[in-house]
Amino acid sequence: MARAHVLLLNPALGPLDYRADREHVVEPGSIVLAPLGPRQMVGVVWEEETLPSADQVGDNRLRPLLDVYDVPPLAAPLRRLIEWTSDYYLAPPAAVLRMALPSSSALDGARTIIEYRATGERPGRMTPQREQALDRIGQRQGLIRELATIADVSEGVIRGLVKSGAIEAVTVSIDTPWPPPDPGHSAVDLSEEQQLAAGMLADAVAAKRFQPFLLDGVTGSGKTEVYFEAIAEALRAGRQTLVLLPEIALTEPFLKRFEARFGHLPVAWHSELRQSQRRRAWRGIVHGEAKVVVGARSALFLPYRDLGLIIVDEAHETSFKQEDGVLYHARDVAVMRAKLEEIPIVLASATPAIETRQQAAIGRYTELKLTARHGAAEMPEIEAIDLLADPPPRGRWIAPTLVRALADRLEKKEQSLLFLNRRGYAPLTLCRTCGHRFQCPNCTAWMVEHRLLGRLQCHHCGHSMAPPAECPECKDEDSLVACGPGVERIADEVAALFPDARVAIATSDTLSTPARAAEFVERMEAGDIDVVVGTQLVTKGYHFPELTLVGVIDADLGLSGGDLRAAERSFQQIAQVAGRAGRGAKPGHVYIQTHAPKAPVIQALLSGDAQSFYDAETEARKIAEAPPFGRYAAIIISAEKLEEAATTARLIGRTAPAVEGMHVYGPAPAPLAMLRGRHRQRLLVHARRSLDVQQVIRDWLGPLQWPRGVRVAVDVDPYSF
Ligand code: ADP
Ligand code: ZN
Repeated sequence: MARAHVLLLNPALGPLDYRADREHVVEPGSIVLAPLGPRQMVGVVWEEETLPSADQVGDNRLRPLLDVYDVPPLAAPLRRLIEWTSDYYLAPPAAVLRMALPSSSALDGARTIIEYRATGERPGRMTPQREQALDRIGQRQGLIRELATIADVSEGVIRGLVKSGAIEAVTVSIDTPWPPPDPGHSAVDLSEEQQLAAGMLADAVAAKRFQPFLLDGVTGSGKTEVYFEAIAEALRAGRQTLVLLPEIALTEPFLKRFEARFGHLPVAWHSELRQSQRRRAWRGIVHGEAKVVVGARSALFLPYRDLGLIIVDEAHETSFKQEDGVLYHARDVAVMRAKLEEIPIVLASATPAIETRQQAAIGRYTELKLTARHGAAEMPEIEAIDLLADPPPRGRWIAPTLVRALADRLEKKEQSLLFLNRRGYAPLTLCRTCGHRFQCPNCTAWMVEHRLLGRLQCHHCGHSMAPPAECPECKDEDSLVACGPGVERIADEVAALFPDARVAIATSDTLSTPARAAEFVERMEAGDIDVVVGTQLVTKGYHFPELTLVGVIDADLGLSGGDLRAAERSFQQIAQVAGRAGRGAKPGHVYIQTHAPKAPVIQALLSGDAQSFYDAETEARKIAEAPPFGRYAAIIISAEKLEEAATTARLIGRTAPAVEGMHVYGPAPAPLAMLRGRHRQRLLVHARRSLDVQQVIRDWLGPLQWPRGVRVAVDVDPYSF
């Protein structure tokens, strides 16, 4: 008999011991099925030394394992990564492990899965629900549950359609092999500068050593082409590459571009995959035949068979910070994974984060610079529009200068992009008579009007309501006004100014699935769109050669609020969106509307002197001992009742240890004082870089107790505070 020490996929549990009988060969990393009370649960065999159990059960009381899955065990570097992530971010190891294993159904040996699709026949009896289902499903296929979600009907409706013959079952193989991308398919000739960078990356891939790179190149300088050469090298070595992108909306254009370069698609991994696609991808990943995997954060913890390279594209993006569940930063965990796997990692960005620049400055990361756009493309001309001197007419947001520029592009049949980082029509609805403002009942947030949906929506919890006919306070009927612009309102303004212009809105509402994002890219490329109005989603990655004008509607938006990274983020966002202009043969022009043309951020953008802006920001952080020169951790205490949250917060505050080099602020209401119906209090820990702040927090919170229903979460290296 052997003892198997198993970490089950239940975040509330530590590792438990089981008995492995003779027919079960287990080793650390083996994926197993174990009994837990009356139920069964998937888990992974772990080393006792690195993850000890709380108490030892005698040999004679051990329950036997039920099964050992026929998949390769989780490799040691991944097990160490899971432990590191759990330690660093103070999360239960099982919560991290869950990100490495998809649903347990992927583990069974089945080679096929049954999906459903429309046959084209009309059902004998048509109902509005059935009509809606068939209409929305169209050509798509999936599990009954997936089709029900797509169609927004109950599973019963789909089953009824199956019975009536309008939907049929099809057998899908989840075992179809992934054809390997061809490194020599259609390489481009690199410029000298590009070649130098690509050579360094390829060498590190060939040497199979840990080496972090900062690939710092202006927008359109060919960063993607350069790291494609590193991928080609990994492919030649037969090893896998992971490419992390900040948004799933970006995967589709990336896939197309990759296919053009390597002849075959890479494997996509994101939350929108169907069960069958997910299972096929996961199998390809664990067996090592999925050579290149592109995905959002969640692809980071997958059990790659033989990982040889990691790329983090748009590495400065804040969406790499996970704000739910395990609160980790995918960029930082990716670097740790590369270290444990002993492979190179490339952080690519035109506007690297100060944290990343600093690593390069002290020589920990190798910096590779691309200083020029490829070919004839020049960097765009950037100009500020002083909104005090050149204001838009009342009730409008596009200044006359920008209107003229738009007219000019429309005339020349070139494309324009207007950037405003606000979804919906208007961020606030207000009663003119009594001043009532529509607030979310669950969150400290205004209800945002979405005219396209015909709803008011909370962007934090998703609460929505029909647009009110009257003010709930004073009952006045014609007194409600939309305050301020969102992208929908700007799109209306463009349509009113230029009735013939074809206007598209690009936000996470309109590009919510890879398919919709792909359609948007196609329409842009085909020239079917004249003006795009978009949020930060369009600032990233896209390459539209005919886009020559960019207008930033409100450059001051990101600067309000006391956020540590506000100036840096504003700079990055505007520089990125500016970088969408003039990427082809025609020169680009950027207008930045602002009330503060003298602000350092705006000045840096106008002069193109990013370095002095970053130097000043870095210096300010050094003085304040802010990241990366010092560290923060936020302790968030939440409860349905304010008093409960406050009581626990005070308890935690009172028991704060006095530690040299550490200071605790609060408790105070968290920046979002109420979220999804829970009151939130916050303590902010500021510590010297060298302090093991995680250990301090573990020792501090460990012995404390709080009532059920109170949640305490620690956000190490928090982003929004
Ligand atoms: P970045 O990732 O730095 O924004 P891209 O890799 O997207 O830049 O390059 C911008 C455009 O220039 C793309 O269309 C790309 O294919 C093209 N390009 C870059 N370098 C080369 C090259 N050496 N030969 C041909 N085309 C190139
Ligand atoms: Zn809400």
